[in-house]
This record gives sequence, structure tokens and C-alpha cells, in this order.
Amino acid sequence: KEKKELIDADGIRRALTRISHEIIEKNEGLEDIVVIGIRTRGVPLANRISNKLADIEGEEVLAGSLDITLYRDDLTTVANQPIVHKTEIPFDITGKKVILVDDVLYTGRTVRSALDALMDLGRPQNIQLAILIDRGHRELPIRADFVGKNLPTSHQEVIDVNLKETDGSDAVILKEY
Ligand code: 5GP
Ligand code: MG
Repeated sequence: KEKKELIDADGIRRALTRISHEIIEKNEGLEDIVVIGIRTRGVPLANRISNKLADIEGEEVLAGSLDITLYRDDLTTVANQPIVHKTEIPFDITGKKVILVDDVLYTGRTVRSALDALMDLGRPQNIQLAILIDRGHRELPIRADFVGKNLPTSHQEVIDVNLKETDGSDAVILKEY
């Protein structure tokens, strides 16, 4: 298995800082903004973004999470319908601008399920998608509003996203199977 570091810790920090500024600019501030991460690694990313947003604008930003399971053996096989398990969103999303956050965007099926789950919870003003890595291969008409980096991959490749909170250190690594 080949391994190659594509983004280091500083690169991840800068991408999240830029995305945070883009969110503020696009929304002309943080009014009604809430941030919701998709487990596992979308959650620490959502927390980092909500903290950065709060730092930059000096206001509190609510954060929550969605737990969605993909029935596929590894990340190179195509998923069926992802299943939404637990949601930890301790606030009403009706009328909110929801920033949905995940580490990698691939077929788009996880995000589609997340959108369904969010719509079941309330009637958000809108939903915007922030993704650290877009690896291509979409199977649905879904795109991210905020992207850390576009990294076109083959189906045999997987992007290993390591985050301090879940993996001990920050790095994005290309893995080939
Ligand atoms: P999709 O549902 O768009 O096919 O896949 C996106 C979901 O699967 C995300 O939650 C993401 O964490 C995971 N995923 C898909 N491909 C990769 C990948 O190459 N690397 C990582 N780390 N996660 C992936
Ligand atoms: Mg995931």
C-alpha cells in the first residue's frame, strides 16, 4: 500500500480558516448560522469551524452532529443507502442556516441522507455544505459550497483524513489499495 501526505497540519488549519471566512462572507455574518458535523470526522471539523467562526466574529455558534452509517466494506466500494442513526442536535434548526460539515465528499450519498435527516428535524432556512476534501466520483447532483481541497482520486485510492481529536495528529494522506 502506497502512502503519500497531501496536506499537513498547517494546510488543514489554513483550509478551515479560509472556509470559516468564506462562510462569514457569504452569509454576511453569523446570524442564524449553526454548524452540524457528520460522524466521525465531520464532527471535530464542525467543532473547529464553529470555534473559528465564534473567534472571528465574537459571537457564539451552536454545533451539533449526525451519525450516518455507510454499508460498505471499505471506502473503495460503492455504498448503498446510508442509514442515519443518532442525531445530537440540541437546538431547533427551523429558520437556521445549517452549515453541514464532513471530511470527504465522494458519491454524495451520505450527504443526501444527512439532508433527509435534517429536513425531518425541522425547516431550516437553508443548508450549506462544507467539505475538507472533495475526491470526486459523485453519483448524485450534490456539490459543496465550501471546499478545503479538490483531490481527484481513482476508485482504488482512499483519502486518509487524520485529525488530532480522532487520530492523534492532523494530516491528509493518499492511500492506494
Ligand atoms: P459518500 O457518501 O459521498 O460516497 O462518501 C462520503 C462519506 O464516506 C464521508 O462521510 C466520508 O467520511 C466517507 N468517505 C468516502 N470516501 C472517503 C475517503 O476516501 N476517505 C475518507 N476518510 N472518508 C471517505
Ligand atoms: Mg464519514
